[in-house]
Amino acid sequence: MVEPEELVKISGIKKHFPIRKGFFNRQVGAVRALDGIDLTIRKGETLGLVGESGCGKSTLGRVILRLLPATAGSVSFEDKNVLTANEKEMKALRRHMQIVFQNPYASLDPRMTIRQIIQEPLEVHNTASGAALRDRVLKLLDLVGLSAEMADRYPHEFSGGQRQRVGIARALALQPKLIVADEPVSALDVSVQAQILNLLINLKSEFQLTYLFIAHNLDVVRYISDRIAVMYLGRIVEIGECDDVYGTPLHPYTKALISAAPVPDPNFDRSHRVLLQGDLPSPANPPSGCRFHTRCPMAREKCKVDDPALREIVPGHFSACHFAEELMNQ
Ligand code: SF4
Repeated sequence: MVEPEELVKISGIKKHFPIRKGFFNRQVGAVRALDGIDLTIRKGETLGLVGESGCGKSTLGRVILRLLPATAGSVSFEDKNVLTANEKEMKALRRHMQIVFQNPYASLDPRMTIRQIIQEPLEVHNTASGAALRDRVLKLLDLVGLSAEMADRYPHEFSGGQRQRVGIARALALQPKLIVADEPVSALDVSVQAQILNLLINLKSEFQLTYLFIAHNLDVVRYISDRIAVMYLGRIVEIGECDDVYGTPLHPYTKALISAAPVPDPNFDRSHRVLLQGDLPSPANPPSGCRFHTRCPMAREKCKVDDPALREIVPGHFSACHFAEELMNQ
């Protein structure tokens, strides 16, 4: 059941990719990309989802939109169950849930003009035709800062930032309620990243959008998010208001991520940095107990056997660490 202020409710989501081997293609294991995710996205917020490459954050975005089937769990959008919706119901739901992809070079069909790319969802959903369709495309181009003359050009004639603007216009075409932005600026030059982030912020307030903003760059997530969820090996390990998570991280992994972010100041004291040891373990064979214990500077015996639940440590701020309270005063 979704509460009135919630737009999306994710419960117990698992996504396991089978590992098959041998002549009979038998399943010998599974990559547990998502392993029990509970999360809510509130109406009108930007929820930042952050973690290292391979932690499962992009998989979660795709499962929410049913671009990938889930292994277990449920996703509710308003009062609709996304994962059990039939084809007709799903088509109606897709109008309200759109995605902006990471790679603006690969996500636009090179054989289609910008006009065709943007009007495609409008045609699929029969929402406009003729002059109204042409007007709508030009309005969308204007909204994302592109001129009407660009409508009949092809994607290869555009820069990365301009292509991402086209991707955003396409996502906006059906006036969605939720946009999953999957690393939307990570393929762009730093100088263009701020322009796209500001565009997303402006569009959000103009159209009362809700964003799930996926990224590995903490500065980017901090700039745009109201709340932040931190993922590690297919699980949420910390979630809270943006300022709380950055000001007082309550999970050693979040603390290490924040500490590792580059600081453009040669006089900055780097002696207190928490460095992450080793690589992300394989999601096909995650560590016992707390999944972070093989890299955690605070790990103790209990951590090797006891899997910590996500707990509310202070109101609205959750952590999956047995010793989260110790981090409050550090
Ligand atoms: Fe580290 Fe233990 Fe907390 Fe896991 S439960 S994050 S291993 S201290």
